[in-house]
Amino acid sequence: MTQHFLLSSAARTLKLKDIYKGGEDAAYAQFCKLRWPETDGEAVCPHCGCCESYFITTRRRYKCAACGKQFSVTSGTILHSRKLDFTDLLAAICLLANAAKGLSALQLSRDLGIHAKSAWVLAHKLREALADETDKIKLDDECEIDGAYFGGHIRPANVAEKRVDRRKGRHQTGKRRVVIAIRERKGRTLTFVRKQEHEGVAIAKARIARGTVVNADEASHWDTLNAFFPTERINHSEAYSVNGVHTNFVESYFSRLRKMVSGQHHWVSPQHLHQYAAHAAWLEDHRRETNGCLAGRILRNALAAPISRTWTGRWQKSASLT
Ligand SMILES: [Zn+2]
Repeated sequence: MTQHFLLSSAARTLKLKDIYKGGEDAAYAQFCKLRWPETDGEAVCPHCGCCESYFITTRRRYKCAACGKQFSVTSGTILHSRKLDFTDLLAAICLLANAAKGLSALQLSRDLGIHAKSAWVLAHKLREALADETDKIKLDDECEIDGAYFGGHIRPANVAEKRVDRRKGRHQTGKRRVVIAIRERKGRTLTFVRKQEHEGVAIAKARIARGTVVNADEASHWDTLNAFFPTERINHSEAYSVNGVHTNFVESYFSRLRKMVSGQHHWVSPQHLHQYAAHAAWLEDHRRETNGCLAGRILRNALAAPISRTWTGRWQKSASLT
């Protein structure tokens, strides 16, 4: 029997110990290389685009020869005004790349010896950056669409006579959300967080190219998809797969997301669910890549992503770690 790729040594191209052994200078050189790939790591001013600058060695900052403004390797990116060492940032990225079911902020904070809130904000910034990979794309290869509900769980009362009918709206918390996922069988996964699954029809119209075959289950709201796409329907009460008609790929995505939420984060708030959903989709789409390749992707995405409107200054704004 052939060995699974992830068990082979070829899948392990990045080691935590090498990051720390290489030290701050080597980690910094990695950042420069991925921030400025066109100039092979030579600084380019983010203010005016000039390639000539003076390096202020002690502070690892540059002063532009043309406009005179100062900048660093992370200026204007999602890692703008970073406080962590470059080795710790690379280590955080390595740990995140290695965690197939995601990584909780507490675990990351313990591994790096940093405050849990710093770990929480950093991980969210990295998730936001990697979601940019699919931000604008349209799917055009055979797709599957489905929704899965998360959150809003009401614990039944201890004493039976005090238990309420949890299906009734007035007993619900309002925190229940559905993650709608559209997955290409040989490509990318797009995720959206909404209140109702039927909202997925409008999303499909916007994000799937016309003429693409769409597989869906028997839920009646997917009937309208038929007006826009060639659709294949599978009735799960009869079978999970018939002659290539199934939603198994999108179900494996939900399986990973459920394990991530219940096994790592334990509880996630509705306002941040989209970040975890996108992270799980990214892990699913790149599941056959080496850990070095994944870490490179995360860092490249982070250095290409603009300053986050959601997460900048978040440490000060919020104490909630979900
Ligand atoms: Zn400049």
